[in-house]
Amino acid sequence: MSTEQLAFVLRGECPICAASIAPPNGVEETEILTCPDCQSPLVVDGFEGQLLRLSEAPRIEEDWGE
Ligand SMILES: [Zn+2]
Repeated sequence: MSTEQLAFVLRGECPICAASIAPPNGVEETEILTCPDCQSPLVVDGFEGQLLRLSEAPRIEEDWGE
């Protein structure tokens, strides 16, 4: 079952290594992404237009699942 609807072109930048990050469709605030470059967990702080505000997520000793 596919529920693809609006495809916003969002972009983000890793606050640690400045790599450019293309978030998955439907990304939401407080969601955790992983930088493809430095593998840092990044939390979505919010949006500025099409720009994703990312900050380093606190390290939690937990299995993220997925
Ligand atoms: Zn990075």
